[in-house]
Amino acid sequence: MADSENNTGTKAIRTQTERTEQREHSTPLFMTSSFVFDSAEHARAMFAREVEGNIYSRYSNPNTDEFITKICNMEEAESGIATASGMSAVFSSLAALLDQGDHVLACRSLFGSSHQILNSIFPRWGISYSYADIDKPENWKSLIQDNTRVLFLETPSNPGLDLIDLEWACKLAKEHGLITVVDNCFATPYLQKPMKYGADIVIHSATKFIDGQGRAIGGIIVGKDRYIEEMQMFTRHTGPALSPFNAWLFSKSLETLPARMDRHCSNALKLAEFLENQDDVDWVKYPFLPSHPQYELAKKQMKDGGGVVAFNIKGGYERAKNFLDNLSMISLSANLGDTRSIATHPASTTHSKLTDEERAAVNITPGLVRIAVGLEEIEDIIADVDKALST
Ligand SMILES: *Cc1c(COP(=O)(O)O)cnc(C)c1O
Repeated sequence: MADSENNTGTKAIRTQTERTEQREHSTPLFMTSSFVFDSAEHARAMFAREVEGNIYSRYSNPNTDEFITKICNMEEAESGIATASGMSAVFSSLAALLDQGDHVLACRSLFGSSHQILNSIFPRWGISYSYADIDKPENWKSLIQDNTRVLFLETPSNPGLDLIDLEWACKLAKEHGLITVVDNCFATPYLQKPMKYGADIVIHSATKFIDGQGRAIGGIIVGKDRYIEEMQMFTRHTGPALSPFNAWLFSKSLETLPARMDRHCSNALKLAEFLENQDDVDWVKYPFLPSHPQYELAKKQMKDGGGVVAFNIKGGYERAKNFLDNLSMISLSANLGDTRSIATHPASTTHSKLTDEERAAVNITPGLVRIAVGLEEIEDIIADVDKALST
């Protein structure tokens, strides 16, 4: 997917809030809970929405507005809402769209807490779900019920790095009157733009590549006006607002997102190629590795392969544990999308709440290791992995 026609990298840098009278070059931080009315009449008109402007930072703030506008420009979305975490973006977008008695069709390989929302929280309010297997697209149609309202997707999947054909899935959703919500966290708007393929809503955990430096928790929902308006009413009153400070950080971070993603992707591909040649490794999954079963699809819908590599170490959990304990530089941590490379054992940590059968269904084997490849020199990353594999 050529990116030059829409200049995502330039939008990431040049989308900016109007300057104040100080003529600052870099957007200042508007650390304020509320804003001042000129008069009683002005206050009335603001609340009546007859005039635009900021009232209270739970509703809007110049820093969150800049962050939202920037992601909208990058994702080619109409409007959006900044949220306190990726999970509040998942929860608020779905909860605002769904009514009692509705049904969600979701891909099975969802982020762990997204599973919990569908499995444990929504059923209390009479909202049901079904999971669709990424590798069995022929079954998806039969899982759509009369009360299905939302198709919820995540691609590339975490941690398996399987892909969903967005054009195909969004078309299926349209044919059945479903609203498509895509968690685009792994790809970022620089590498993949689900709205182009017909998605209605795109969400992100800004905690990951958007911040990119492991500092702050946040999220964002963007999409078509008619859905975002319903969600704005929901979030305005339920209050998952993003802090102006974190919005300011994320908007600054986005200025370097394209440069960082290029390096994450080139490091990840080199690590994947190295791992593919190791005797102790059964298989390696990376979307832009020619051996990936969906390599052609990856090339079609993604600009590059992303910053995460998954691989299976021969010898199961014991060998995987040994590998993790023998890493020197690469951190053991639950995050991803950081400047620092991070290794995770999904079966015993992020996906430990799933049953053995559930893990097997999404290919989370005992020997599976996920590396969120950072921005260090690739020679150092490979040397650390090499040493830990051979210890
Ligand atoms: C981390 C993550 C989330 C949750 O985001 P938080 O910011 O941790 O709340 C949701 N989806 C995906 C794919 C993620 O990786």
